[in-house]
Amino acid sequence: MPETLARYAADPRRSRGRVHEESAPRYRSEFQRDRDRVIHSGAFRRLVYKTQVFVNHEGDLYRTRLTHSLEVAQIARTVARAMGLNEDLVEAISLAHDLGHTPFGHAGQDALNECMREFGGFEHNLQSLRVVDQLEERYASFSGLNLTFETREGILKHCSLTNARQLGALGQRFIDRRQPGLEAQLANVADEIAYNNHDVDDGLRSGLIELGDLSALPFFAEQLDRVRQRSPLAHGRRLIYEVVRTMIDTLVTDLLDSSQERVASAAPGDIDAVRACTAPLIGFSEPFAEAQRALKRFLRENLYRHPRVRTMTQRAQEIVVDLFQAYSADYERMPKEHSLRAARDNEQAGRSAGARVVADYIAGMTDRFALQAHEAMQGNA
Ligand code: MG
Repeated sequence: MPETLARYAADPRRSRGRVHEESAPRYRSEFQRDRDRVIHSGAFRRLVYKTQVFVNHEGDLYRTRLTHSLEVAQIARTVARAMGLNEDLVEAISLAHDLGHTPFGHAGQDALNECMREFGGFEHNLQSLRVVDQLEERYASFSGLNLTFETREGILKHCSLTNARQLGALGQRFIDRRQPGLEAQLANVADEIAYNNHDVDDGLRSGLIELGDLSALPFFAEQLDRVRQRSPLAHGRRLIYEVVRTMIDTLVTDLLDSSQERVASAAPGDIDAVRACTAPLIGFSEPFAEAQRALKRFLRENLYRHPRVRTMTQRAQEIVVDLFQAYSADYERMPKEHSLRAARDNEQAGRSAGARVVADYIAGMTDRFALQAHEAMQGNA
């Protein structure tokens, strides 16, 4: 195990820095400081009441955005340590990557994107960046958390070209079709490993999918076989946990082997050489990449589009649309700080700017807060 940072890792002493200059931390690295700022943010605390697939009140055992983010950080840190990458940075990115998510998971985000169509749309990755760059109000001399370039680069996983053009140095890689640092690439893949596997786990727990259905996937059937050979008596929840942890272990092992091979053959001298690459260096071998795609397809068809999930999804979308329309028609239905800001931005920069404040307000809501706000509105209608 490497004890020191690899030459291609992000080095906090050579960070591209923060937008607002600050004195160096005394006993933490710049990336530790970023991670700590994320953990102390209001948006991070709200992740506990935001969901991925299931709505928050459906059961206490399902993943929330908070536990998901912790699982991403755990997987990413394991790989980072084994590869000599910067663990603090990969942790900061992992914990921050979903800060911009709306209530009600992807359903909420799709609805808000639709509401914002004529006002520049809504992208959750860009929203995570907005949260850490502008929306958190914790410091006397600047808005946002003033994170380092490297953490912000990792948070912005995807971005449309239109938005990339407005983001300066941070958006440039989308225009040039280049890569971010390895820590950012790693947090991205760790996110995928985490959600595929916990959606299998939560899906099985909910009874919406069954072991038998999943066994149609060769990769899953293989892991199930391995567990049955190792522990022939395991059944029920214990069997499911054993399969999920075996899948994560198998995927992480492949990710590590395959990434180390790619890094060795590209031999980047430093993080800028990584950024200059046209393809990511962190990734699965081709058979495993295909197994992950097959798992994703399975989950899309059998879990995300399950009639019970769909009913919830449609309800969630109606709530988001209702809230957006009501607040847009009358800013004063929002709390004062938001209504004043919406009125001011609308006046100074036009309707899109007013709509953006409404979107920011809704995106910040937890599932239960959105439900309550919607109920209260119906009561007053
Ligand atoms: Mg995620």
